[in-house]
Amino acid sequence: MRFDSVLMVDWSGGNDRGPTPVKDAIWACVATDGKAQDPVYLRNRQVAEVWIIDMLTTLRAAGQRVLVGFDLCFAYPDGFATQLIGSEDTLALWDWFAERVKDSPTENNRFDLAGQINARFPGVGPFWFNGLKRDIPDLPRKGTARADHGLPEKRAADLAIPGSFSPWQLAGAGAVGGQVIMGLPVLSRLRKHFGGDLSVWPFEAAETPIVLAETYFSLIPDLVQAHPHPVRDAAQVTLYASGFSNMTAEVLSRLMDVTATPEGWVLGAGEAAALRQALAPAPPPLTNDCFAMPQGAYWTPVDDALAHLQAHLGPVVATDPSTLAAASGRFLAADVTAARSHPPAPNAAVDGYGFAGPAGEEVNNLPLVAGRGAAGVPYPHPVPSGHAIRILTGANLPKGVDTVVLQEDTSVTDHSVSFHGPLKRGANARNAGEDMTAGQTILSAGRRITPGDIGMLAAAGIGTVPTYQPLRVGILSTGDELVPAGQPASAGQIYDANRPMLAALVAGWQHQIIDLGRAADDRDKLRAMLDDAATRCDAILTSGGASAGAEDHVSALLAGTGSFALWRIAMKPGRPLAMGLWRDVPVFGLPGNPVAAMVCALIFAQPALRVMAGGAWQRPAPVMVPAGFTKTKKAGRREYLRARLTNNVAEIFPSEGSGRVSGLSWATGLVELGDPALSVQPGDLVPYYPFSSFDT
Ligand code: AMP
Ligand code: MG
Repeated sequence: MRFDSVLMVDWSGGNDRGPTPVKDAIWACVATDGKAQDPVYLRNRQVAEVWIIDMLTTLRAAGQRVLVGFDLCFAYPDGFATQLIGSEDTLALWDWFAERVKDSPTENNRFDLAGQINARFPGVGPFWFNGLKRDIPDLPRKGTARADHGLPEKRAADLAIPGSFSPWQLAGAGAVGGQVIMGLPVLSRLRKHFGGDLSVWPFEAAETPIVLAETYFSLIPDLVQAHPHPVRDAAQVTLYASGFSNMTAEVLSRLMDVTATPEGWVLGAGEAAALRQALAPAPPPLTNDCFAMPQGAYWTPVDDALAHLQAHLGPVVATDPSTLAAASGRFLAADVTAARSHPPAPNAAVDGYGFAGPAGEEVNNLPLVAGRGAAGVPYPHPVPSGHAIRILTGANLPKGVDTVVLQEDTSVTDHSVSFHGPLKRGANARNAGEDMTAGQTILSAGRRITPGDIGMLAAAGIGTVPTYQPLRVGILSTGDELVPAGQPASAGQIYDANRPMLAALVAGWQHQIIDLGRAADDRDKLRAMLDDAATRCDAILTSGGASAGAEDHVSALLAGTGSFALWRIAMKPGRPLAMGLWRDVPVFGLPGNPVAAMVCALIFAQPALRVMAGGAWQRPAPVMVPAGFTKTKKAGRREYLRARLTNNVAEIFPSEGSGRVSGLSWATGLVELGDPALSVQPGDLVPYYPFSSFDT
């Protein structure tokens, strides 16, 4: 099933909502090839009907095939049509409503019509909730007042949707019944207008250029909530239009492959996962050249390698709305704007007495009005000029009050308050929006959310934020000689130091760890392990087997992928790194030596994984500290020395041996000696990176 464009319409049963875009109105959005246009606000049904016909006519004239989704029940529960019009033909029922519904921007007859329909059924109901002041014959105000009308409460599709409402309920929060009555006539007229060009899914074969389908915009509420458009209805139509337009023909065909009954079906009901996939698609895979580096005898400078990563890497995880409770440590996937100003209204910063400032230098004596303002319980009346009111911290300032005197600075009788001035106008009061204003961008995409951010987001009225899913990082050791710590080891074996060390390191970067175990030096076994890892990891760190020797199976396997680059970095400790994509999953083939593995992970994997997780490119900044050592190095290679600070002087680990893992424990960070030749004397300032500075 393929459509060139998707038009999504959020319907409404209410009256005209005025010229300024507001919620709970009709909103529509067109998307083509997965890209949504700006959502359109339609102030009433008459405007909407004309707009929809115009839009469909334009799209048809351009030769497009269009799916039109309405958030509106296309049918009533089983048995309704048969009893009302003597036929179970749902589309004939639409015409029946079209003949009887009277609609204008300011009034309509939906409650009266519902009462008239009820009169044709036995008992009381099925329609209920008269939203008008006047009583309507046969239309109960309460659902519990209904009895013996003989119809099911919901359709099968409604039962498949958690939280769905019955079309019998005409009013009240969340009710859909009113908009159904007010929508079916419009659908009926659309059918008449477009004739054989239009079919209604699933009642008719969806083979025409225009296909109408019922949908339901709350199938994936969290994604809607995380959408940046401040009006929920607008966010819904935008998300659904781009999502259904994004969906592959196969998935859409599967979703539309339902058995037609007179009750119809809701497009996407029970298919939240498919919708989610289409609405929040995984980003495109990294390109084969993302690790490309000059090959051969040339040694690439560290900065060149980092610049290449920065230029070629991007997020590899899908976006995922997160509640504030789960958002800490995640990366923001989009800018966030304040939903509300903070503070929302001017209020008192202290406990005291509010009045219209300023107050003069002499003793001020103001009569008190009766009552008080407290946080959450504002004083509802204006305070007359020259009067004061008791006010508590956080209370909104009543009209006529802009200044507060601290209670400790006053003396109070039953009827008046006196204090020494002067007091500036606005003293001890907070202005509305002085902290944040509604609509202001308060956080930017790529930021890792901190506890402070969460406080700010909550204060700004944001309950759900667009974030990236956690990056799943697989950690794999390679080598026949390796045994996990805690198990017996024979003479030829050593303990696997890298896997637990790298896991702890990456956990410190707040990614999700997937322990992939150890691979023997066996190409087929390693291949099978990588195949499996690629199904459940977003990135993979291996250690060992990364050079170009006979037992270097990581590089040998990656070499067959078309994405492989053997990195020869002008850096110590270093050895080659085997970089590549395994089934689109980036693999960092780190050296086997624990010191080299850790330093290469800190320098290259840390910023790279951060970007893959959706974060901004960010490297730690060094602190300059005096050297407590002497060291001479040649030009053409950067060196990272295991270092520790003693009295703010950097000492270095006595041995530079790359296998000396104890030096990693001894050290508190790394000293970086730049690429040129260098002779460091005690007291010279050198750049020092505390290990903790990589945990960004
Ligand atoms: P390779 O790169 O596989 O040649 O390994 C280089 C050196 O690092 C060898 O001495 C390996 O035994 C050692 N090595 C490799 N992997 C680990 C590991 N996971 N833990 C400790 N040492 C390792
Ligand atoms: Mg090995």
